Amino acid sequence: MTDSYVRALSYFDGETHRCDGPYIFAIRDGVIAGIAREATLDGLPGALDLDAAFLSPGLVEAHAHLFLRGEELDGDKRAAFLASDREAWLAAGQANLGRAMDHGITLIRDAGDNAGINTEIRDAVNDDPSVPIRIRSAGLGLRKPGRYSSLFASEVAGPDDIRARIADLAGRSDDLKVFETGIIDFEAGTVKGHPQFDFDEFTLIAVEARRHGMPVFVHCSGAEGLDIITRCEIDSVEHGFFMRDHHLQAMAERRIAWVPTFSPVHFQWENPGNAGWSPQTLDNLRMILDAHLDYVGRAVRLGVPLVAGSDAGSQGVVHGRALIDELLFFDQAGMAMDDILASATSRPRQRWKVAGGRLAIGQPLDIAIFAGSPYDNLGNLRKIVGSAMGGLVRCVGTP
Ligand SMILES: [Zn+2]
Repeated sequence: MTDSYVRALSYFDGETHRCDGPYIFAIRDGVIAGIAREATLDGLPGALDLDAAFLSPGLVEAHAHLFLRGEELDGDKRAAFLASDREAWLAAGQANLGRAMDHGITLIRDAGDNAGINTEIRDAVNDDPSVPIRIRSAGLGLRKPGRYSSLFASEVAGPDDIRARIADLAGRSDDLKVFETGIIDFEAGTVKGHPQFDFDEFTLIAVEARRHGMPVFVHCSGAEGLDIITRCEIDSVEHGFFMRDHHLQAMAERRIAWVPTFSPVHFQWENPGNAGWSPQTLDNLRMILDAHLDYVGRAVRLGVPLVAGSDAGSQGVVHGRALIDELLFFDQAGMAMDDILASATSRPRQRWKVAGGRLAIGQPLDIAIFAGSPYDNLGNLRKIVGSAMGGLVRCVGTP
């Protein structure tokens, strides 16, 4: 590709804020060939006038379900959608991709679906140079027979089954998703049921997945489940409600990441009328969220790597927008802006050994473009202009 140029007033390079600009990025063959402190694009051939106040590496959504429609709030309609057909799920997945790109997301880790829409979309998108987004797919997750969740996972009964299933997934799934606990019972303010896999089983899962080169990410909330999984070599704890300090210490020691997914619980708290929650349940929801904010703050202080993921597709958790919400929750929890941006750019890519996530000479062009800097005003995270990957620029609203 011929040279092009992008101008920005300031940028986040994947580690720190560069605010001595304006800067001109020279792009050659889809790679950042140069970064210079220049004020104007005038006279540069192929200059892309994107009105960019701020650039960051393309955003990463670490926990989404592409086939689910987060914007559908009605429980009956959600159930009807799940009972519909592949075509409808695939169409939802395509629409969700557009929403994600409209929020500067260039990499999504799908956290499981039983119809394989995640893998189908990945296979269509990842080799397509005309779409500036890439997908990692867990395909189907693992669960114990009869346990949560039939929507996202298939059943494995014992050690032989675990070995065989992981070997089978290894060729097709980028990551291994495991369901260790059920969902939260908001009315009781607790996690439903006991952990699915015991310590020995979980150790086997972690060892087998590692042998096949798949990072393990684990749906888990509640002390009982967290006691098991934080002693195993996994990539990340997903959700992690009812976290305690000793779990965080174990995670910091093993460099296990935490993807706290505030959004689904926050939606329930913010819209109690949708499910008809009682005042008592509303109190539970607030308590759960406040404790979660508190423990994310503690996690940062203890050195646990935070990664941003929203659980997009859950009720009220809309693809794209919800990732930005998660970054705002990280701010509420007291995270510094460098850390917040790293959690949704460089850190997950580094952990998953994916190229990019850095704005530096020699790096592939993979950027989110904003009309304002979040270092000036957090709300500017919502002012996305577009994204660019390789030689392709996509502005918000492009079909
Ligand atoms: Zn999920």
